[in-house]
Amino acid sequence: MCGLSVKPSPVRFNHLLLLSLVILLDSKAQQTELEWISYPPNGWEEISGLDENYTPIRTYQVCQVMEPNQNNWLRTNWIEKGNAQRIFVELKFTLRDCNSLPGVVGTCKETFNLYYQETDSEVGRSLRENQYVKIDTIAADESFTQGDLGERKMKLNTEVRIIGPLSRRGFYLAFQDVGACIALVSVKVYYKKCWSIIENLATFPDTVTGSEFSSLVEVEGMCVSDAEEEAENSPKMHCSAEGEWLVPIGKCICKAGFHQKGDACEPCGRGFYKSSSQDLQCSRCPAHSFNDREGSWRCDCEDGYYRALSDPPSVACTRPPSAPQNLVYNINQTTVSLEWSPPADTGGRNDVTYRVICRRCSWEPEECVPCGPNVGYSPAQSGLVDTYVTILDLLAHANYTFEVEAVNGVSDLSRTQRLFAAVSIATGQAAPSQVSEVIKEKVQQRSIQLSWQEPHQPNGVITEYEIKYYEKKDRIYSTVRSKSTSATVNNLKPSTAYVFQIRAFTEAGYGTYGPRLEITTKEEATGRMYIKNARQNPVIIIAVVAVAGTIILVFMVFGFIIGRRYALAVKFPGTKTYIDPETYEDPNRAVHQFAKELDASCIKIERVIGAGEFGEVCSGRLKLPGKRDVSVAIKTLKVGYTEKQRRDFLCEASIMGQFDHPNVVHLEGVTVAGVGVGFKYPLGFVSINHFLFYSSFFFSPGKPVMIVIEYMENGSLDGFLRKHDGQFTVIQLVGMLRGIAAGMRYLSDMGYVHRDLAARNILVNSNLVCKVSDFGLSRVIDDDPEAVYTTTGGKIPVRWTAPEAIQYRKFTSASDVWSYGIVMWEVMSYGERPYWDMSNQDVIKAIEEGYRLPAPMDCPPGLHQLMLDCWQKDRAERPKFDQIVGILDKMIRNPNTLKTPVGTCTRPISPLLDQSTPDFTAFCTVGEWLEAIKMERYRDNFTAAGYSSLESVARMSIEDVMSLGITLVGHQKKIMSSIQTMRAQMLHLHGTGVQV
Ligand code: AMP
Repeated sequence: MCGLSVKPSPVRFNHLLLLSLVILLDSKAQQTELEWISYPPNGWEEISGLDENYTPIRTYQVCQVMEPNQNNWLRTNWIEKGNAQRIFVELKFTLRDCNSLPGVVGTCKETFNLYYQETDSEVGRSLRENQYVKIDTIAADESFTQGDLGERKMKLNTEVRIIGPLSRRGFYLAFQDVGACIALVSVKVYYKKCWSIIENLATFPDTVTGSEFSSLVEVEGMCVSDAEEEAENSPKMHCSAEGEWLVPIGKCICKAGFHQKGDACEPCGRGFYKSSSQDLQCSRCPAHSFNDREGSWRCDCEDGYYRALSDPPSVACTRPPSAPQNLVYNINQTTVSLEWSPPADTGGRNDVTYRVICRRCSWEPEECVPCGPNVGYSPAQSGLVDTYVTILDLLAHANYTFEVEAVNGVSDLSRTQRLFAAVSIATGQAAPSQVSEVIKEKVQQRSIQLSWQEPHQPNGVITEYEIKYYEKKDRIYSTVRSKSTSATVNNLKPSTAYVFQIRAFTEAGYGTYGPRLEITTKEEATGRMYIKNARQNPVIIIAVVAVAGTIILVFMVFGFIIGRRYALAVKFPGTKTYIDPETYEDPNRAVHQFAKELDASCIKIERVIGAGEFGEVCSGRLKLPGKRDVSVAIKTLKVGYTEKQRRDFLCEASIMGQFDHPNVVHLEGVTVAGVGVGFKYPLGFVSINHFLFYSSFFFSPGKPVMIVIEYMENGSLDGFLRKHDGQFTVIQLVGMLRGIAAGMRYLSDMGYVHRDLAARNILVNSNLVCKVSDFGLSRVIDDDPEAVYTTTGGKIPVRWTAPEAIQYRKFTSASDVWSYGIVMWEVMSYGERPYWDMSNQDVIKAIEEGYRLPAPMDCPPGLHQLMLDCWQKDRAERPKFDQIVGILDKMIRNPNTLKTPVGTCTRPISPLLDQSTPDFTAFCTVGEWLEAIKMERYRDNFTAAGYSSLESVARMSIEDVMSLGITLVGHQKKIMSSIQTMRAQMLHLHGTGVQV
């Protein structure tokens, strides 16, 4: 036996075994008489005695061994069985060996019989043998041993019998003696049960064992308080026939807010929570949350902090984000692009998106209404992940307010004030929308009558419609115009298919054509055959052509002569052509023809804003009868002007008055009134502050003259960019360039060559709309301080001018495109001077040798490529303004094409180099160089960081520049741009590569 150890089985509870008995009867335990029924009376006899431990006991004895045919019955009292089905009967008895009794052969027996009778209640004291069911015949295991009688010891036998299944409430046991000598020392009746237990936080009640030896009773457990059943795993155990709990299945777990301690669930303490029964432990409240109760399944958020519905209790409480930052906008007619930076505080969440609220406002403040469904948002109005949006289809000339709000998962829960960034914007001019609903009213052999509806968005007053039509087969088109919404197109061919398209015209220009409408004219009637014949007869054709040609020739010669005198330009349908005021013999006629004459009393001068070539430029207001007053710039002619000066001054108005485009400065009109009218001013609408200005009226020997132009709040573009160095997004800059290109496209379409396109001659209004200005005829020669005399004669702004214009004065729209490329460079470098401090001669030489300006800092490669295209030597190779607008539009539509990582601007294809004169490498010290680029304020920063030589400066990266403590982005760019050029020069001149 040594070394044998019993491993406890995990599913058995042996410790319960001892406790599993429920005693129904124990004769030994009874101290008083048992008073069982014995029959016949001389059979079983109740006798008191002592057991082996000398404890007093009650026994029944019988020993009728001498008489044959014994039948002695002994019956217990009624035993109530309760729930038990399987009853154990344990008998302890002694039995005498018949051999030990002399003279009993034939009558002595060594067994007795055990019976039972089931009843629901006591049945009285009569005893009927046939009502008993035999359980067994009981024999002694141990009887008296052989030997002397005196030495013989009584041996106690123990026998256990099981009865069941029982179905009645109780039963009697009966012992039948048939002639043995028996002492029934103890009768014990019991059943077994599994006692109540808590296992896996479930209570299993007392359970009586099953009726069969092999049966297991399945018992459902009940969760202890504050515990719940684990999902689909309810607790069960099995009670075996032996009263043991076996095979536990499933379990209970502590509910949310409670954790397990021993066999019970206890509440989580204050400041702790347990969100789910699945969690084992209570956890401390996450950030920005608290609780001051025990047994919490979650913690409450602090004031101002929230939890989104989808947030689990384990995450910190969060709050709405702050407002987006740096909201900037760009307007292109009726399209507004907004861009912003993420909020400084995301509220502790990473699900920040943006939404835009658009309101249209009347001119009165605070009177705004939501924009409604006709406005489009790209990519969307809300749920924006990226920090930009484009708002489309706004109304022209309308005031809008846009609010950009950053929202996160808890924004809708917060009752605190909304935080947003807002801009108020006035949309510009826009062309009308399409004419789409065209009806054919009448179709004849040679004419077609059409009518149509006004476009849905006229965006202004429609002054004219243009009907474009062509024969379907040859696509050579003609146009007809109409002031109303119907028109008849004549001179068509019979039986011929024509295609029609209509577009509307407003102050803002033409809208896009509507859809094509195909109509076939009616069949030709007989009687017109002579025309057909004529068409087939070459002699007639030649005659007709000769006559027509002669007439046209006469008209052209006549027109030219008249044109010289009266500047009657020949206009072709569909194109408006610029007329040079110089072709007028009397310039006053040109002014009258192209500029509206204003009554000076409508003009209110407010302050002087600049100096023009001919006099002060003032700002003020113009109030025309029946119209709102508008801000205007007023150019004046200084005191004592000559007639030539007056003519030259007004010439600009004669030119400007011919233009009507949102990107060309708009002329409101001129005053050309006489001296008498001038005296009215001090008493009338004009302010007294501007003595200088009035003096021109009081003392002028000629006529007082003013040119009134739309007011451009931000003045000229070069100064504006320098003032806001580094403050715009690339999209905004490209938006400005697009505007300038659109203005130039319009001017070149009209046949006007500007000759002095430069950022200083572009004006910027409050909405960042750029407009081409400066149209004086003599301006290039007299007005522009950049213009210098060249060897070919005449003054030319060298840095902006194409080589062919410098060399042989070939000014064309293609030379304007060159200048436009320089403007692009000025814009992208925030008003840097083209070719920096190089001399004009060096610039001419460098360009001639094929060098071009490098890309400014952070300039997208695509934009620099466009500049280089504008600077093609062969002017035919340069893009047309129309193409430039298209390219820029594409870039604006796909902002990704404009992305350039900081400091990775492409190197110029042929870096600018100046070989003959001092260049960047010619500066001796870092100080000199900084002075040259007007950044001397950073001299100490460079010295302190140990940049003592230009070689070391040339190796600097943008990070190095930033590490000097130069925080202004514009200055970083300026310095980096200069370093890049310096590097290129060093590389070229010395062949020394500077490794960065
Ligand atoms: P100009 O004679 O056209 O070169 O004008 C001289 C200066 O007056 C310009 O550089 C501008 O600063 C200012 N200026 C001219 N026209 C306008 C305008 N329409 N709106 C605002 N400022 C103007």
